[in-house]
Amino acid sequence: MPLFPMDFTISEKMQTTLNLIRTFLAKEVDPLEQTFFRKPFRELLPELGLLRAKVKQMGLWGPQLPEELGGMGLSLVEHGLVSEALGRSSLGHYLFGCQAPDAGNIEILHMFGTEEQKERYLKPLAAGEIRSCFAMTEVNTAGSNPTLLESTAVKDGDEYVLNGHKWYTTGADGASFSIAMMVTNPKASPALRASMFIVPTDNPGFQLMRNIQIMGESGSDYFSHGEVMFQSCRIPKENLLGREGHGFRIAQERLGPGRIHHCMRWLGICSRAFDMLCERANERVITLDGRTLADNDAIQHKVAELYAEIQQARLSVLHAAWMIDNDGATKARDHIAAIKFSVAGTMQRVIDAALQIHGGLGMSDDTILAYLYRHERGARIYDGADEVHKSSLGKRILKDYAKGKR
Ligand SMILES: Cc1cc2nc3c(=O)[nH]c(=O)nc-3n(C[C@H](O)[C@H](O)[C@H](O)COP(=O)(O)OP(=O)(O)OC[C@H]3O[C@@H](n4cnc5c(N)ncnc54)[C@H](O)[C@@H]3O)c2cc1C
Repeated sequence: MPLFPMDFTISEKMQTTLNLIRTFLAKEVDPLEQTFFRKPFRELLPELGLLRAKVKQMGLWGPQLPEELGGMGLSLVEHGLVSEALGRSSLGHYLFGCQAPDAGNIEILHMFGTEEQKERYLKPLAAGEIRSCFAMTEVNTAGSNPTLLESTAVKDGDEYVLNGHKWYTTGADGASFSIAMMVTNPKASPALRASMFIVPTDNPGFQLMRNIQIMGESGSDYFSHGEVMFQSCRIPKENLLGREGHGFRIAQERLGPGRIHHCMRWLGICSRAFDMLCERANERVITLDGRTLADNDAIQHKVAELYAEIQQARLSVLHAAWMIDNDGATKARDHIAAIKFSVAGTMQRVIDAALQIHGGLGMSDDTILAYLYRHERGARIYDGADEVHKSSLGKRILKDYAKGKR
């Protein structure tokens, strides 16, 4: 096992920022939570718009955005810490302008967009004036292996004609444009077969069929996952993002930092659920002589195990972020793959334990736990299912050992 140096010192400025965020969420956002559970997201938009304006006034908008795009220009480690703080609230990332999939779309538009694409799509997206979505997964092919994609984009004069049936296009409802992954070169090698396109959602060839009902909820606007059709959808050739055939390469750029954001958000969720678990264990009386759940050995062991697991997860995510900041995403590849499946598992175990300790209350929507149990289960599937990451990481490690590289 190689050893890596690391320095996780948190600057005073960063500590102040984190305190500001925690106070803002506790005072202004937590009181909205019960309404968020009960009302369609779309109905909350006016109120959320006001909160977003306050975030901007405080200089906390877009922690992941470079300063030239109106953001805070934080390093990945710093943004990771912010993401963790925001993750304690289900509205945190949306209110601070760093929600998926917009954050990833901003990143690739910034890296690969033309000047015109940046002006038209990137600037309003980074400012939170519009939203976007990312359409890659198809209904009829295994999303775990994107080289199987069947949706096509065929060049026709100055246009491309797109056809395909996608789903799990998060936030398609209300998005102004989609970034769509389409096969442009079916005969090319698998890695060079697909390209990315910017498709305005008011194009007559783009149709949102439905918001998929997920664990009982269809959601609306940003909090939804759409099934979408591209039918003879004509877009100008200028809407190609990056080079033709480079779709997967661009997607790789999107995933490295994106996984740090996700994992730290999940750790924010872990810290919230763990707090709730411990508070409930201390309060809940389970015997006539006043003993509480906290007096029980089984609960004490569970708390200790989860505490250790969260600590381990947190350090490995910060370490992966630190490596990306200092050595680049390619060198951090194994660390990124490892945290994706391990932290998703940690989060699932922490939410499950917190729900269990709350008993019937945990199953109800009177606390956030049932919401987290439903909506965060997807973490083990999106951005690469557990098994896919484990296979590719395990294969790479064993190959390296066979070559004497480790
Ligand atoms: C909440 C949520 C949000 C999403 N948002 C988006 C989005 O915005 N845009 C987008 O394009 N997609 C999105 N997705 C789709 C997501 O990327 C896919 O669901 C994922 O890639 C898996 O593809 P699939 O659903 O087709 O499952 P399949 O590929 O059919 O795989 C099904 C299961 O089989 C197992 N499996 C697959 N391959 C292997 C293997 N090689 N070895 C062992 N086991 C394997 C895994 O357990 C996997 O979960 C989202 C999904 C969810 C749940």
